[in-house]
Amino acid sequence: MADLWAMKYRKIFFLMAIFLQMETTPLLLGKEAHIHGEGYLRLTYHHPEGEWSLRLPADLVVGFEHTPRNASQKKQWDERLRAFDMDLENLIKIPPFCGAKDKHSIELVTTQSHAEIVVTQKFNCKDSNDRRTIKFHFFSHFKKLNKVLVTIVTPNSTKNEQFRYDSEIDF
Ligand SMILES: [Zn+2]
Repeated sequence: MADLWAMKYRKIFFLMAIFLQMETTPLLLGKEAHIHGEGYLRLTYHHPEGEWSLRLPADLVVGFEHTPRNASQKKQWDERLRAFDMDLENLIKIPPFCGAKDKHSIELVTTQSHAEIVVTQKFNCKDSNDRRTIKFHFFSHFKKLNKVLVTIVTPNSTKNEQFRYDSEIDF
C-alpha cells in the first residue's frame, strides 16, 4: 500500500516538474533551445518608457535555421528578412501616443542547432486616457506559429500569458 502511494506521489511530482519546466523555460529566454512553432514576447513598461522584445524561431521568418549555405539560401534569407522588417509595424502595434524612440533592431541569435530572430524596440508613452494596448498580428502572418508566450513586466506586476490567436493586451 505504502509503495502504491509512493508511486502515485512520484508520478505527481514528476508531472509537476514537467509543468514547472514548461512554465519557466520561456522565461530563461535564449538559454534553452526553443520549441518550433513558438514565439516569445517580453514587454516591459515603467511609465513613460517601455520596450518590447520578440523572439521567433528563424525558420518561421526565413525558412531555415542556419546561416545561408549557398547563393539561393542567401537570397531567400535576405528577401524574407527584408519583408519581415517592413511588415513589422503591422505585426506589432503599439498605441499612437506611444512613440517609438528608434527603429526596431533585428538580430540573429544562434545556438548549437537553432537560430532565432530577435526584434527589440523601445518606446515612450505620452499621458493619455486611451488604453495602453499592444496588438499582435503574428498568427495570421506566420502560418506555422502555434503559440506566443508573453511576459509583461511593470513595476507592480509580472504577468505571463499565452497567445494562440491574434490578440491584444493592455499594459
Ligand atoms: Zn530551432
